[in-house]
Amino acid sequence: MPNLLRLLYAKMRAHYAPSTRQSAEVRDSLVKALYASPASLMSGAVSGGAISLVLAWGTAVPAMWVIAGLAVFVGVSRSISSVYFQRQLADSDSPAPIWGQAYELGAWLYAGLLGLQAFASLLLTRDATLHVLAVGMVASYAGGISGRNAGRVHVAVGQTCLSLLPTSLGLMLYGDVGYFILGLLCFLMIFAMGEITKTTHRIVLQALEGKQEKSQLAIKFERLARYDSLTGVENRMAMQMRLREMFFSRVNDTAPMAILWLDLDRFKEINDTLGHIVGDQLLCQLAERLNETLDGRGHVARFGGDEFILICPDTGRAQAEGIAQDVMHMLSGDFSVMGYHLAVTASVGIAMAPDDGIDGDILLQHADLALYLAKREGRNRFAFFDWSMKERQERVYELETGLRAALTDGSLRLHYQPIFDAISGRISICEALMRWNHPFLGPVSPSEFIPIAESSGLIEPMTEWALKQACADAMQWPDDIRVAVNISPALIKTDGLSRAVMSALLTSGLKARRLELEVTESILLEDDGRSHMILGELRRIGLRLALDDFGTGYSSLASLRVHDFDTIKVDQSFVRGIHENPRDRAIAQSVAFLARQLGVETVAEGIETQEQLDYVRDIGLTNVQGFALSRPIPMDELLKLMDGFRAGLDSPAANIPARKIA
Ligand code: C2E
Ligand code: MG
Ligand code: MG
Repeated sequence: MPNLLRLLYAKMRAHYAPSTRQSAEVRDSLVKALYASPASLMSGAVSGGAISLVLAWGTAVPAMWVIAGLAVFVGVSRSISSVYFQRQLADSDSPAPIWGQAYELGAWLYAGLLGLQAFASLLLTRDATLHVLAVGMVASYAGGISGRNAGRVHVAVGQTCLSLLPTSLGLMLYGDVGYFILGLLCFLMIFAMGEITKTTHRIVLQALEGKQEKSQLAIKFERLARYDSLTGVENRMAMQMRLREMFFSRVNDTAPMAILWLDLDRFKEINDTLGHIVGDQLLCQLAERLNETLDGRGHVARFGGDEFILICPDTGRAQAEGIAQDVMHMLSGDFSVMGYHLAVTASVGIAMAPDDGIDGDILLQHADLALYLAKREGRNRFAFFDWSMKERQERVYELETGLRAALTDGSLRLHYQPIFDAISGRISICEALMRWNHPFLGPVSPSEFIPIAESSGLIEPMTEWALKQACADAMQWPDDIRVAVNISPALIKTDGLSRAVMSALLTSGLKARRLELEVTESILLEDDGRSHMILGELRRIGLRLALDDFGTGYSSLASLRVHDFDTIKVDQSFVRGIHENPRDRAIAQSVAFLARQLGVETVAEGIETQEQLDYVRDIGLTNVQGFALSRPIPMDELLKLMDGFRAGLDSPAANIPARKIA
């Protein structure tokens, strides 16, 4: 028999032992479930204690009073501890392991006392009422416990055994067949309750694990939604939310705050030449170093690409400048990425609250505008937003929209400025210069609207139109007068230019040799050989090329070496200084000499005085252009001028006899 019991115990232990695979979170939840309902513990303690006292009184045996006293004590202690547990839980979400062990001990002690009391009453008295009370109490206790403590199977099974085993033994030993059968049923009830507990436990566990999985998924999604997957810093959405919250909860509208918008200079080149993996690693390192540089003074977020936003609360202008300087200083160190030592620079735009705006989106827009300025001023610098930038931006927007309409509404015009042969005084070329009258802003200078057209892509259709118009107009001039059209550098890299030139020549019927394209030295900037090819192609079909504003770029002589030009136009800044500045004279003379050696024509731009005209003729520049001779004029005036010359009127450039320098 003892062997059978030992075997039974071993089997039950293995079957109902607590799982070691549960996560700490699930374990905590199960312990919490044990203490979950202090009310049920209290009602168990009250009913168990009351019946124990009745049994002690009924049997009138002192030992029974001791057991009843102990049962009351344990029941009350457990009820108090469960209330105390709930308070502890308010301070720490994870209960200490001692709570689990204390519950087990209390539960088993209480169950054992109830079982012992039932056993003793069955043996000490023949009072059937007391027997019903004792057995009923234990049976209902065991039934309730299997559900209540299903979170901890071994606890519940232990309680069932400790309460039911002595009761069933007492019933069997009582010496009555009915009692014996009841004892047997109580014994079988242990297994039935065990199975119910186990099944309930499985269901509880599945529910808890499902809940845990869901909360882990929610945390994961929240991370994905808030943080940039590459660099680990906050992403654009989280940054915007942070800003919105900051402004929403701002109690003091005058508290300063800074937003720094950082953009790496020429990051695309690193990506294109060294590959995206190097680019990505560089961004990761940058994010890390930005965090270190800020050192708690603000938050870093990646706006996208190579752009980062630094949000610095409680930061005044001087501190914001300090942060920007620290960032510049940090960037001046090398970045070591996959064996490459990369030297990078960045441009930073800064906007301040409340001066530059008291709304997150507006401040971001303003920081972006300041960034644009920092880039335009040569990059590798920071700039603070100021309201004139905003006005400028609004004007640019106005002009861009206006230009788009101007392409179709005919408000774009071409004026022509004649360029005279310095010796004969005859018109040799007419330069087409675009004119635009904005519907309500009035006349806008091409120096303002051409760069806007270039940055918005409108320059392509505008040049197409100018080429067509200029070629058609030139058909009305004498055959020996050429027309010059200005071409933006960006267009010289596109196939569209050759197409537009061919189409203008074909539709107008103008001979290619009468069309001259004026380009500036900036065509050499970022040239991958395409402009050389395209210009070569255009020259082959007979077009002439003029190098405009010669001497103002960074590669004046190099552009003469790389491309074949037919005309060099000496920039008006040199012509203007001819009388005061010996250096300008030296440069103008050298260009005249250089052009003669290269066998190309020259144009002196910006002649405003007789002295300038005399001088450029003297040094041998072959053509002259300037307000002293003629301003840019509309087509009808130009035709009248040409008619006048034909009728024998003197050319403004012909009244001084040419003198060649020795
Ligand atoms: P640019 O090609 O160097 O044109 C010469 C500019 O100098 C013209 O200014 C002309 O009016 C001005 N100019 C001529 N003689 C004198 C003078 O004696 N004194 C002074 N102070 N200025 C003189 P404009 O018409 O304002 O054009 C400015 C620039 O805009 C042009 O410089 C050219 O780069 C660009 N541009 C004009 N029309 C077009 C066009 O159709 N396409 C492109 N891509 N650019 C154009
Ligand atoms: Mg020009
Ligand atoms: Mg020029």
